Amino acid sequence: MDLIFLGTGGAWGLPEHQCPCATCSHLRAIGESRTRPGLWLEGAARLLIDPGPDLRAQLVRENLPRPDAVLISHEHHDHYLGLDDLLCYRRNLPPEAWRPIPAYASQAAWEQIERRFGYLLGSLLERRLATPGEPLAGGPFGPGLSCTPVKTDHGPVPKGSLGYVISDLVGARPLKVGYTGDLTRTLEPEAFGGLDLLVCQCHFLHEPAHNRANHLSLQNALPLLARWRPGRVCFVHLSCQDFLPGDEASNGMLKKYAPASPLLDPAGRAYVPPRDQASWQATVERVLADHGLDLKPLVAHDGLRLSVEPA
Ligand SMILES: [Zn+2]
Ligand SMILES: [Zn+2]
Repeated sequence: MDLIFLGTGGAWGLPEHQCPCATCSHLRAIGESRTRPGLWLEGAARLLIDPGPDLRAQLVRENLPRPDAVLISHEHHDHYLGLDDLLCYRRNLPPEAWRPIPAYASQAAWEQIERRFGYLLGSLLERRLATPGEPLAGGPFGPGLSCTPVKTDHGPVPKGSLGYVISDLVGARPLKVGYTGDLTRTLEPEAFGGLDLLVCQCHFLHEPAHNRANHLSLQNALPLLARWRPGRVCFVHLSCQDFLPGDEASNGMLKKYAPASPLLDPAGRAYVPPRDQASWQATVERVLADHGLDLKPLVAHDGLRLSVEPA
């Protein structure tokens, strides 16, 4: 199974426009950026997970064909606002050659998405329901490829948030890839167990005293990863919301909350929040090793291509 990370930033991308913090200033200086969420998965079929608002640029960048199905994790704008960009696949075919793309989301998510994109249903997209614990029906899903939605808790507003576990039959056994979507926790703790690869949301390094964003920090991901033990873990949905020592003006911004109890290294010192791809990668390797987790962590970046092979 091949993965292409279309976008690996959070809801406003990185660097965030007008953000004066040390992370965003540094990213501007070195020319590094992350677009909003999006993941392409290609095995028995082509799956597009979370068509975010940067979808057009991502499809062009990777030169991607029509997906066989679209999976939406929840009804926050950064995870579905690119749906209209899929019209290019329909517009450039004769009408009789077009088949609508099956699109899956929870009932609660569809109630929100339909208000904005109802005009796409039936013509561009086939509205399909994703129910936690029930393998997706129709579309490309069948004996060789299955996908089971996992109920996640992403705070009180997006009531329909889901993760997905995709099983692609490769050789003798299915290759299992999990995608958490945005979450503070999952309501089905065992559902992400036994994966070959987990794409895990990682919005902060330290858990903030007030998690206003309702996102997962690396700190709070550690006990989950220790329980799930995926063969590999890729972190996505990075932000600039960690408090940065020495950046006090930015630390006073609305979006920043100090950690109540920061993640500490074995010497009892708080880890320094990373700012860019290289320091994020070095930090997650160190944090996981310090906590006894041998999981081959990878901080994904936009355009990263990864092949997942059976172990
Ligand atoms: Zn998000
Ligand atoms: Zn969200």
